[in-house]
Amino acid sequence: MSTDTRIIHKKQIKKLQQILKNNKQKLKVKKKTISNLFRYESSIDKSRYEIDLSSFNKPLFLDSKNKILEVQGLTTFEQIIDFTLPHHLTPLITPELKHITIGGALVGIGVETNTFRYGFVHNSLLEADVLLSNGKVITVSRNKNKDLFDALPNSYGTLGYVLRAKIKLRDIKPFVKLKTKKYKNIKKALSELNAKTKQKSIDTIEAIAYSKNEIYITLTEQTNKPKNLKSIYGPTIFYKEVSRANEFTLKTKDFFFRYDPDWFWNIPDNFLMNLLRRITPKKLRNSGFYKKYGQPIFDSLESKESKEKYEALIQDWEVPWNQGEKLFNFFFDIVETNGNPIIIAPIKTPTIATLYPMKPDQLYLNLGCYCAIKRKKGQKPFDVTKKIDNLCFRLGGIKMLYSSTFLNKKEFDKIYNGGAYDKLKKKYDPLKLLPTLFEKATLHK
Ligand SMILES: Cc1cc2nc3c(=O)[nH]c(=O)nc-3n(C[C@H](O)[C@H](O)[C@H](O)COP(=O)(O)OP(=O)(O)OC[C@H]3O[C@@H](n4cnc5c(N)ncnc54)[C@H](O)[C@@H]3O)c2cc1C
Repeated sequence: MSTDTRIIHKKQIKKLQQILKNNKQKLKVKKKTISNLFRYESSIDKSRYEIDLSSFNKPLFLDSKNKILEVQGLTTFEQIIDFTLPHHLTPLITPELKHITIGGALVGIGVETNTFRYGFVHNSLLEADVLLSNGKVITVSRNKNKDLFDALPNSYGTLGYVLRAKIKLRDIKPFVKLKTKKYKNIKKALSELNAKTKQKSIDTIEAIAYSKNEIYITLTEQTNKPKNLKSIYGPTIFYKEVSRANEFTLKTKDFFFRYDPDWFWNIPDNFLMNLLRRITPKKLRNSGFYKKYGQPIFDSLESKESKEKYEALIQDWEVPWNQGEKLFNFFFDIVETNGNPIIIAPIKTPTIATLYPMKPDQLYLNLGCYCAIKRKKGQKPFDVTKKIDNLCFRLGGIKMLYSSTFLNKKEFDKIYNGGAYDKLKKKYDPLKLLPTLFEKATLHK
C-alpha cells in the first residue's frame, strides 16, 4: 500500500472497530452501490444494525511488477478496471456487470467467460482482511486462517465482510477481437467449446443460445490493432452483434462490461428504446442506474399479478461437462424464453472451495438464464426453476446462490457442505450475529 492509502485504510478500520467493539447486535452491510443479488422474499430480519462499509471503496496499491492489486472490499469492478487498464493489467476475472464489487464477487461466485482458464474471482485471491461480527478484523490467506480463506467463496457475508483484498492481475491488450459462428446442433457446439479451451491464443469462450438449434459461439483474442471497431453504446445492442456470424473489435473495457448497457437482454429492443439508446448519455446506460431507478420493475415482478403471469428465471447452473447436453436440452424442453437467449460457457476451477464444492480441474458447463418467462396456466410458482434445479443436482451439478433456491435444510447442507459451514459459523460468528447461508439463500414461504 502507498503510505497515504495505508494510513487512510487503517484509520477506517479503527473507526469501524470502535463502532463494533464487543458487538452483540445482529448485522447487515450498508453500501452505496447497488446489489447484484436476485432473491425473492428474503427471510432476513430487516431490523438488523446496518454497518456502513461504503467508504471501503478504493483501490489501494498496484504492484505492476508482480501483477498484484490491493483493493478495498467495496470497490466496484469498473473502478478496478479504470485503475489497472492504464497499466495494461486486469484482474484475472472481471464479472460482466460494472457495479459488482470485489468483496461481493469473492463471497459470491464471481465468474467470466475465461473462468475455464483462471478459475473464479476467488481463485485470484492471495489475501484478505475480513471483518468479523464481533468487530475484530483478521487477515486470511493460504497460510493464515486458511479455513476462512477457503470458505469465503459462497459465504455471502455470513461469516464476515471483506474489507481488503489482495488479488492477482494479468497482462491485457487495449482491444479485444471477437469472432462469432452459428451452430445448429448442441453436440457440435459443445465439442467446439471444449476444443477451444485447449487453444492458448483464445482468451474467452462463450455461446448464446436461442433454442436447441440456434447457438452462436463467440471466441475472443486480445489485440493491439482494432479492426471493425464497435462500441457497446449508441445504437449497438451487444447480444444482437453476437447473434449472427460476425467479426469485430471492442475496446477492452467495453468488452468486459459488454452486457451492462442492455442489462444482458432486459432492455427491450423496440422503437422507443432504440431511440433512447441513441440519445441517452453513456454514463446513464448501466445496470447500476437501471437497478437503482428501475426498482418499480423489480417490485412489479414481486406483485401478486405479476407472479401469477411470470416466473423470473434469473439463475446460473453448472453441471459436469459430460452432463451439459442433458441440462441444455432439458432447459429448452421446458422453457420458452420469448426470444431471449441464454448463455453457456465452459468453466473450471483449480481448487475446491469449501462451500461451493465443485470438483477441481474438471470442466463444467455453466448455463445462465436472465429473464422473466411466462407461466403456463395452473403452473405452480417457480415450477420451472425447481425442475431445472432438480435436474442440475441430479446430474452432479451445483447452482449459484445469488438468486433464490428452494432446497430444504438437509438437501442444502448436502450440496453446499453444511457440516463444514456449521463448524466455521461456530468459530467465526458464534453469536450468530450474521444470518446463516441457508437463511440468506432460501425462500421461505
Ligand atoms: C442478473 C445478474 C447477473 C449477474 N452476472 C454476473 C456476472 O456476469 N459475473 C459474476 O461474477 N456474477 C454475476 N452475478 C452475481 C453477482 O456477482 C453476485 O450476486 C455478487 O455476490 C454480487 O456482488 P455485489 O458486489 O453486487 O454485492 P451485493 O449484491 O451487494 O451483495 C452480495 C452478497 O454479498 C454480501 N457482501 C457484499 N459485499 C461484501 C463484502 N465486502 N464482504 C462480504 N460479504 C459481502 C452481501 O451481504 C450479500 O449477501 C449476477 C447476478 C445477477 C442477478
